[in-house]
Amino acid sequence: MRRLTFLPAVAFFFAATPGPTIAQESGMDATIHYRLGWDNPASQLYTVSVTASAGDEPIIFSLPSWRPGRYIIQNYAANVQAIRARDENGRPLEAEWIDLDSWRVEPDGAAQVTLEYEYYASTLDAGSSTLRPDVAYFNPVNLFPWIEGRMDNPVALTLDLPPEWAIATQLERVDDGEQIEQRGNREVLLARFRAPDYHRFVDSPTVAAPELTDWSFTVDGVPYHVVMRGEVRLGDRTQESILADFEAMTREQVAFFGVTPFDEYWHLYQLVPYPFGHAVEHEASASYVMHDGVFMNDFAYMGFMSTTSHELFHAWNVKRLRPAALWPYDYSTPQLTRLHWVTEGVTSYYDKLFLARSGVATEERYYEALGNTIRSLQRSPGRKVTSASLASLTSWHSGYGDGNPNQSISFYTKGSLLGLLIDLRIRDLTDGEKSLDDAIRYLWREYYEQDLGYPEDGLQRAIETIAGESFDDFFDRYVHGVDELPYDDYLSVVGLRLREDVDETRPAATIGLAPRPTGHRVAIDNVFPDSPSLEAGLMRGDVLVSIAGLEIETSADIMEAMKTHQPGEVVGVVYERGGVENTVSVTLDGGANLRWVVEPVAESTERQLRLRKAWLASDAGT
Ligand SMILES: [Zn+2]
Repeated sequence: MRRLTFLPAVAFFFAATPGPTIAQESGMDATIHYRLGWDNPASQLYTVSVTASAGDEPIIFSLPSWRPGRYIIQNYAANVQAIRARDENGRPLEAEWIDLDSWRVEPDGAAQVTLEYEYYASTLDAGSSTLRPDVAYFNPVNLFPWIEGRMDNPVALTLDLPPEWAIATQLERVDDGEQIEQRGNREVLLARFRAPDYHRFVDSPTVAAPELTDWSFTVDGVPYHVVMRGEVRLGDRTQESILADFEAMTREQVAFFGVTPFDEYWHLYQLVPYPFGHAVEHEASASYVMHDGVFMNDFAYMGFMSTTSHELFHAWNVKRLRPAALWPYDYSTPQLTRLHWVTEGVTSYYDKLFLARSGVATEERYYEALGNTIRSLQRSPGRKVTSASLASLTSWHSGYGDGNPNQSISFYTKGSLLGLLIDLRIRDLTDGEKSLDDAIRYLWREYYEQDLGYPEDGLQRAIETIAGESFDDFFDRYVHGVDELPYDDYLSVVGLRLREDVDETRPAATIGLAPRPTGHRVAIDNVFPDSPSLEAGLMRGDVLVSIAGLEIETSADIMEAMKTHQPGEVVGVVYERGGVENTVSVTLDGGANLRWVVEPVAESTERQLRLRKAWLASDAGT
C-alpha cells in the first residue's frame, strides 16, 4: 500500500447546517462523497455527483486530463455535460468553467456543496468508461473530479445500480446492509464503497453487470480474483489448469520481491467477441478488455498469460516503485520522464520471463517470444532515429501513434530487449552472482520503501552498484542512443544465439509499405524509408488499384501479389491520388520473410549452462 498522509480536516460546523446531510450521517466531515448512477443506459450517460463541506472560500473541482498507465493527454472533461451545483437544501449555486477541466463553485453561505453533471461513457477499453444496458464499467479517473486542496481527504462512493447486478472492484465495500431505493418504476441498489484518498479512489476500475464469473485462488494467504464478464470459452483448458498457471506465475512474482504489497487482488477481464486487447495496471487490480478466444489456442493463451503477468508485475513496478517524475501523480499536467522504457519495457521483459521461470511457458516458447520481440524492433524503421529514452519522454505527443510512423518506436519493445541485455550483462560481470532482479529489488528498498520515487538515473546507478562496473557506454549507445542492439554478444552469456531464418509461410518480396483498408479499397498508411515504394514516389494516402496486374481490394491481396514475384523483379503499381489514376514501376525488395530465432548454441560451456539455468530458475521453487 502507498503510505498515506491525511491533511487536517476542513473546518466544518454541524450546528450551522440545517437538516441532516450526507456528511453528518457518515460522521466524517472531511470525507468527499461521490455518487454514480444513470437513468437510461442506452444514452451512455452516467450521472456523476460530488458533495463536500463548504466554508467561505470558493471550491475548485477538477477532472484529470490523463490517467496513470497511458502517458498522453486525454481531456476527459470533453465527455462532461450539463454542469450544475446546489447547496444542502437544493438551492442552485453557480458552477463556472474556469479552464478546460475545472469548475469553481461559490458556496454563498452554504455548508455543503454538490457538483453534478452527466458523463458520456461510450468507449469500451480497459482505461475508459462505458455504460450500456448490459454493463457499467468505469475508471473513476475518467469521471470523478478532485477538489483543490483535498486530494488526501477520505472518499466515499455510492453506486446506484440494478439490485441483481454483480460488482467487482479493488475498492473497499462498506457493508451497511442491502439498501434499495425506488426510482420511478425501478429499484436501485445503493452500493457503498470507500477509499483512503483521491489517488486510491481513482486507481480503482469497477465493473458491474448482470453476471460476472469469479474464480479465485490464494498465494501466501492473499486472495486473488479472476473475474470475467462475457462468454468464457475454455476450449481444451479447464478452470483448474488455468488457475494453476495463475498461481504459479503469481508465486514467482511474490518470491521475486519477497513481499505482497496488497491484501487482495482483482484481475478484471471483459471478454469481447471481436479481436481486441487492452489492459491497465492498478495497485490491487488490473483491468483487461480482450478477445474471448484467449483460451482457445496456445498462441492466444500465451498472449493472455503474458499480459496478465505484465499487469500483475506493475503492482510492484510503476504502481509502487515509480520514477520520481510520477510521484505523486499530478492528473492536471504531463509528468515527463525518460524512464517508460523501464516502467513499461522492463515490465515487458519480466512478464514473459516469469512465465518461463514458473513453468507456465516452456523454454522453447520463451525463446520464440524473444525472437518475435527482436523481429518487432528490427522491423521498426524508427529504431534508427529515436532512442528508448526519447520515446519515453515524447510519449505525451507521439508515443501512441501520432507523428511520423517512421520515427516512432515502442518503448515496450525496445525496453524489454534492453532489460534482457542488461540482465545478461550483469550476470556475465558477476559470474551469475547478481542480476537485473537485484537492481530492481535494490530500487524497491532504496526508494519505494523510503516513500520516494527513483531519479532519472536511478536504475543505471542501481545496476552499477549491483554489477560493480560502469554502464555509461551501454546507456549512451543503447538507451540514449540508437546503436543497433548487439544481441549475440549478450545472448552468448547464457549459451544462446540469434539466427536469421526464413519464414516459409511468407513471401520474400516486398514493396515496402503498410496498408490501411478503407471499406472495399486499400490505402497506403505508411511508406517505409529506403523502400521500393518511396523510391517509386508512392505516398501515404495513395489508394492502391493494382499491383503487378492484380486488383487490390484487401490488404491480403498485396501479399498475394508478392507471392508470385521475386525480389529484384519490376512490377507495375496502379494507384489513385486526388482522384487521378497513375502508374509507376516498382523494383521489389527482399527480406520480408526474415524472422529471428533465439536458440541454444550447439555446444554450451559449463559456465553458459550454469548462467542460463540460474537466469531461468524459479525463485518460488516451482
Ligand atoms: Zn504496462
